Amino acid sequence: MDNSTIMQCDGAARLQKEVLDRGLCTVCGACVGYCPYIKTFGEQVAVIHDCKICDGVCYRLCPRGFTDYEGLRQSVFGSMDFDPVLGTHTALYYARAKSEKIRAQAQYGGIVTALSLFALQQGLIDSSLMAGGGPTDAQPFLCSTSKDIFEMAGSKFTAVPTLSLFQEAVKNGFQRVGVVGRPCQVTACRKMQQVEEINGQRIALVIGLFCFWSLSAEFHSFVKERGLANCTHMGIPKDNVNFRQENGSQITMPLEEIRHLIKETCKACYDPLSELADVSVGSTEQYPGWNTLVVRTNKGKQLVADASTAGIIELQSYPLDRLPVLRQAVFQKKKRVLERPDTAYIGVPTGERNSFVKGGEV
Ligand SMILES: Cc1cc2nc3c(=O)[nH]c(=O)nc-3n(C[C@H](O)[C@H](O)[C@H](O)COP(=O)(O)OP(=O)(O)OC[C@H]3O[C@@H](n4cnc5c(N)ncnc54)[C@H](O)[C@@H]3O)c2cc1C
Ligand code: SF4
Ligand code: SF4
Repeated sequence: MDNSTIMQCDGAARLQKEVLDRGLCTVCGACVGYCPYIKTFGEQVAVIHDCKICDGVCYRLCPRGFTDYEGLRQSVFGSMDFDPVLGTHTALYYARAKSEKIRAQAQYGGIVTALSLFALQQGLIDSSLMAGGGPTDAQPFLCSTSKDIFEMAGSKFTAVPTLSLFQEAVKNGFQRVGVVGRPCQVTACRKMQQVEEINGQRIALVIGLFCFWSLSAEFHSFVKERGLANCTHMGIPKDNVNFRQENGSQITMPLEEIRHLIKETCKACYDPLSELADVSVGSTEQYPGWNTLVVRTNKGKQLVADASTAGIIELQSYPLDRLPVLRQAVFQKKKRVLERPDTAYIGVPTGERNSFVKGGEV
């Protein structure tokens, strides 16, 4: 196929040319599983057969394929108020799981694990796509029991292609699939929900993580070289990286030592807060035992209210003095990204684009 044909076709050839060849794949996993010609090799994605189909779904699902953010926002939030920096939301909290057992296992306050467990127990979801294993051997998992979900707790800072298991969930008959994902995966989920061929409407709950970057597959060689391949927990407090060893000891190194491992595509990523999720969850950057929780859709609002009433999670007002700090970090990231030449995939209105590129205030 020549270039002009490729660009008119929404298929694997366009995915290869616009996304994979340019190093823009986020390894979300959305294009994997439905099509036998696209495979993951660890944390790499490859089209293994030349596919001539012009209306293939792979390109349509890809968060680095052209993304009509306005259209997606409309489908997720309808006429709810839009905040160009933080995305649509109805409330912001500091929050944590009430269970000490969850908090001990979790990255921060365990809100993701607690809400996922609660959603399963309530029947809102019957399964969840999550990232399990340790920080150095992370893998996608299809969870269907509370035990499975509990074992997923903790952040893995590489790009785990969890959405690659969505078709397995469908084949196994799950009807209400939950997803916990990085913002790129959240965008892919919203695209998947619009595609009937893949049964995307079975995605029932989307819990998004904050994510400003993830690490490339070279991270695995790095930890081997440094004798850290068996670490059981990894944390990134400001400007440092902590690796907890099997014997409980901790090794700390400056963040600068792993900065070269940040994935290139993350530098072109417009959405650090999972703006299209039902709820988004991040750190507080102040209190390690707590999360920042952003409530976005009505479904997310109901889940948080029910979990709070049931005594599963604890909510505190989001401190007003932290809001400018969060807004500034997101504003600067979006501005940097929009100024790059490789971000043609970002379909946002000109006014929104200008408010970041030309604007100075948040
Ligand atoms: C790559 C990455 C970068 C992040 N960067 C930031 C940041 O810059 N600022 C910030 O505030 N927060 C960031 N986070 C989010 C933060 O690390 C926590 O995941 C979040 O605060 C939830 O905490 P928790 O205690 O509720 O999580 P837990 O209850 O421990 O649950 C963690 C959940 O995250 C899922 N998960 C873990 N790793 C991955 C992965 N690689 N891909 C998809 N899902 C995964 C697991 O399935 C699990 O369900 C990042 C997370 C990841 C994965
Ligand atoms: S859909 Fe996801 S995994 Fe597939 S090419 Fe796009 S970013 Fe990569
Ligand atoms: S920074 Fe963006 S592209 Fe990179 S892992 Fe996070 S959400 Fe995905």
